[in-house]
Amino acid sequence: MKYRDLSIQTQREAPNNARTEGFSFLARAGYLTRENTPTQLGEVALNHLQDLSNDTVFLSNLSLPTIGNEDEIFFPIASGPVEVAHCPNCKYTERLEFARFVKTPLQKENELPLEKVLTPDCHTIEALANFLDVPKEKTAKALMYTRVADHKFVFVVVRGDMQLSEAKLKQHVGEVRPATAEGIERSGAAAGYASPIGLKEAFIVVDDLIPQSQNLVAGANETGYHLKNTNYGRDYSAEIVEDFIQAKAGDTCINCGSSLSVLSAIRLATRKNHDFENILLALAQTHHDSKGLTLSHPAAPFDVYLMQIPGKELDTRAKAEELYNRLQIENIPVLFDDRDERAGVKFNDADLLGFPIRITVGEKGLKEGMVELKPRTEKENQLVPVDNIVEMIRNLLK
Ligand SMILES: [Zn+2]
Repeated sequence: MKYRDLSIQTQREAPNNARTEGFSFLARAGYLTRENTPTQLGEVALNHLQDLSNDTVFLSNLSLPTIGNEDEIFFPIASGPVEVAHCPNCKYTERLEFARFVKTPLQKENELPLEKVLTPDCHTIEALANFLDVPKEKTAKALMYTRVADHKFVFVVVRGDMQLSEAKLKQHVGEVRPATAEGIERSGAAAGYASPIGLKEAFIVVDDLIPQSQNLVAGANETGYHLKNTNYGRDYSAEIVEDFIQAKAGDTCINCGSSLSVLSAIRLATRKNHDFENILLALAQTHHDSKGLTLSHPAAPFDVYLMQIPGKELDTRAKAEELYNRLQIENIPVLFDDRDERAGVKFNDADLLGFPIRITVGEKGLKEGMVELKPRTEKENQLVPVDNIVEMIRNLLK
């Protein structure tokens, strides 16, 4: 294709809304508008990626530092909307809300008798732990929901030092929404002072650490009071005992025992689909230098950026056009910069666009039957015989 056919618009400056270098260079090189919409060139690049994706190992051929599991492939990037837990050691990767990790139970204790204590203004685990001078892990945190399907009152218990993963809850219980004041009252629970002990018509679910934790402080279902020494099994039981906890950075990997990281990411692929816009962003984020993109074969939409420098004696444009036609016949994807711009402008654009090879047709070289060839990631260019150009390109793209 030709530069002017694609109406390519490059920019000197990075857009001020750029949150990542990848987006910044895609916008500057004219693949995306500043509003993050693909341009004509962007569409060509996306269609090219889509064509490549017929090959099942296509993603692994793009030299991207991806992470993932059987269901989803992610690319870590600061602007990414997905949070994933990732083990740098064994590469275990899971969406944070579903990530599993090793939980360490507290030391086993003998069960002590229940004891009701006055705990004024202790509406939070923090306040309660401070007031009673117990560590947060010795408290039971209550969360109350209504199941959407049958309006059942769902009472969740997790250890006070841990966060519930609503995604894991929904996986086991179905869709839920926060419980209403009526629902809480009907069950006999008291907001802020709730516990699973003595509830009516409640669907109780507990995290799997709860049956292993003795003598926890929990609400007394009476405003201003808590119970010391509540014990699962003796004082209450549950319909479901499962892992309901949201992992966090530093938790222990379920596979290898290393420390989990939490990363922001974009999703590149599921089992069935690819997200080509995200793949293009990942490519730009991974493959660029200070001058622009440095895409490699086969990721680049074109392998060759062909340009000519106007001559005084020879018609360099006609020669470039000839070469353009020849590369097309040879099935080498080429973008011909057919503009009457200064060489410097074209060189800058070639660097921004980031195709693997730049070929320049100039008068001086042509007189000796040569053109200039420069791989994007190398500093120097070389003069090569026009007659050998196809072979040279093929070798460089291997
Ligand atoms: Zn691991």
